[in-house]
Amino acid sequence: MPARRMEDRPERGQYTPMTTLVTSGAARKSLPEFKNESYLDFSKPEIRAAAQAALVQVRSEFEREHELWIAGAHRKTGDLLNSVNPSRPAEIVGRHHKASAELATLAVEDAHAYFPEWSRTPVERRVELLVRVAALIRERKLEFDAWLVVEAGKTWAEADADVSEGIDFCEYYARQMQRLAAPPELVQLAGERDEMVYLPLGAGVVIPPWNFPLAILAGMTVAALVAGNTVVVKPSSEAPTIAAKFAEVLLAAGFPPRSFSLCTGSGSVVGDLLVEHPRTRFVAFTGSRDVGLRINELAAKPRRGQIWIKRVVAEMGGKDAIIVDREADLDSAVAGVAQSAFGYQGQKCSACSRAIVDEAVYDEFLSKLKSRVEGLTVGPPEDPANFMGPVISAGAYRTILEYIDTGKREGRLIAGGAAVPSNAAAKGNDAAAGDGYFIPPTVFADVDPKARIFQEEIFGPVLAVARARDFDHALALANDSEYGLTGAVYSQNPDKIRRARESFFVGNLYINRKCTGAMVGAHPFGGFNMSGTDSKAGGPDYLLQFLQAKSIAEKL
Ligand code: NAP
Repeated sequence: MPARRMEDRPERGQYTPMTTLVTSGAARKSLPEFKNESYLDFSKPEIRAAAQAALVQVRSEFEREHELWIAGAHRKTGDLLNSVNPSRPAEIVGRHHKASAELATLAVEDAHAYFPEWSRTPVERRVELLVRVAALIRERKLEFDAWLVVEAGKTWAEADADVSEGIDFCEYYARQMQRLAAPPELVQLAGERDEMVYLPLGAGVVIPPWNFPLAILAGMTVAALVAGNTVVVKPSSEAPTIAAKFAEVLLAAGFPPRSFSLCTGSGSVVGDLLVEHPRTRFVAFTGSRDVGLRINELAAKPRRGQIWIKRVVAEMGGKDAIIVDREADLDSAVAGVAQSAFGYQGQKCSACSRAIVDEAVYDEFLSKLKSRVEGLTVGPPEDPANFMGPVISAGAYRTILEYIDTGKREGRLIAGGAAVPSNAAAKGNDAAAGDGYFIPPTVFADVDPKARIFQEEIFGPVLAVARARDFDHALALANDSEYGLTGAVYSQNPDKIRRARESFFVGNLYINRKCTGAMVGAHPFGGFNMSGTDSKAGGPDYLLQFLQAKSIAEKL
């Protein structure tokens, strides 16, 4: 590689964070102990009424134009991205100006230029801003829920879980940053003072998916910010309105205008540019395996003027399995599988897409599962009676239906499988409801463990069930995957549970419960193998992804 030329170097002051202020814990304010945000109870008439009112408010903002927020200012390009309601694609939820290559470049360069100032902002101020963001979202919780219902096709309960998780990330990372701001205890050599302090990294790019469009977007963004980094957020093109609402909250909370940019635009157009820019210090990505691998590869190549190795935090796909042992409580296993497979239409990275069932209980399990799945209601999620809403987009709808066709060759269809909206979907309150991207919960039995529907992430309401000879065989099938995100085991046998703890190779293992629904603080979340870079969102180590440690030894 040619020697780096002097003019390629950034000015020292442009990237060197100040050690002392960043690590100061002097003004530490005590925050109450972290507690997960409670969920709203949508069975209560008053909550339902308030939810409907929030929906009316949100609908009144449909078709509004949303500008970009780049380098501390609103920007327009006139090149608009329409975000639609997947239950009624004719409805435009928001129109979003898309960043040009020039604006994306400006976003990174300004984030880099502003980094020294933000990194010197005392930790306590950054922590206070996170807590304020949490409070503002809490105040507007039903409104945020409603945006998720109309833009992401979430049911009210799923939407509320997403918003609650976003609040949890703010509250939890605020406390974790306070902890990390206090220098850890080191061995003290005779005649020295030995310390280690954490410094932020620099300007980062945050790239979230659409499936937790508030929680994951907020989590990655606030983690980077509270650690003292500046960020350029490139939201998913499927859920830009929620991102615009979150940006509003960051500003309202008091985040400095240049501490973050909202760089809406197509991943394939501005994504590479943001990742490759030599001033990008890190990329925090959550999304599919293929995009994650591409980002990892592009980020690994140093560009002219780049003086660091970019850090990539990538949280990627899953092909998550639930093992149902012959000694399981079968009703509870059926409930857990159905909930994990079909909650939010199977569009969770943690969704159960493989059920591996001991042959001794296989037929009974399938018959119970079939009747349970046939009772699941599908339709516009605005109606709280529906358990499942639409899949996110026309593209996802087509891909999932193609997998269902493949499944018909690879397994025995026992539920769903229709290529048209279900009857329940057509019961929506207007004719357009039938045009939504509704796919009924679909189950294939007798699937060969090497089949495509057993190995590839479908990311929709499709469950493949395979038969296992015994528990060891079930574990071997569960581990026969390139992914390693979540998994669950239903068994009453302590020895089998012990074996699962030891050898079920997933980042998040659940025993006798569903494999979705990770809670911030209790279930640090992230997977092995092609599921990502082994980070743990919502866990005590997560902020270290956005920090670097400096050791200081002073001779006394
Ligand atoms: P995706 O297609 O990979 O997109 C994720 C993000 O990457 C979007 O913002 C997308 O922007 C952007 N992007 C696309 N191409 C890019 C490029 N060349 N450079 C930079 N960014 C680019 O994934 P998705 O469909 O949104 O989300 C579903 C996937 O996420 C599933 O695989 C799921 O398992 C995974 N997921 C994982 C976790 C976890 O914690 N492990 C959590 C949630 C979801 P555009 O929208 O503009 O294309």
